[in-house]
Amino acid sequence: MTPEFLNQRKEDLLREKEEIEKELSSFANKTSENNWETNFPHNMNNSNEDEDTDEVEEYENLLPVERSLEERLMNINIALEKIEKGSYGKCDKCGKEISEERLTAIPEAKNCIECN
Ligand SMILES: [Zn+2]
Repeated sequence: MTPEFLNQRKEDLLREKEEIEKELSSFANKTSENNWETNFPHNMNNSNEDEDTDEVEEYENLLPVERSLEERLMNINIALEKIEKGSYGKCDKCGKEISEERLTAIPEAKNCIECN
């Protein structure tokens, strides 16, 4: 792996991180580095039950979105840490190098194709 390749992956990861954080911040609050809480609808009132139900439903629909974005963000942070430590691009399971092709497609990949 060339330093250029590594630098490009780092840029990809940072860009992706920014995008995910932007997306998350549109409906959730950051509580710690890898943790976000979906905002519960604040204009809940009992005068219109149908509307309240819609908002609760929307909240419930957002939870899995939050979780999957959060997970991606966590993987991105792990990958960025590995770049700093010089251990980026190695499979977590078998320790072999992950192909550059795979890292280009998924810069936060933790496993090689065989272990995925
Ligand atoms: Zn592997």
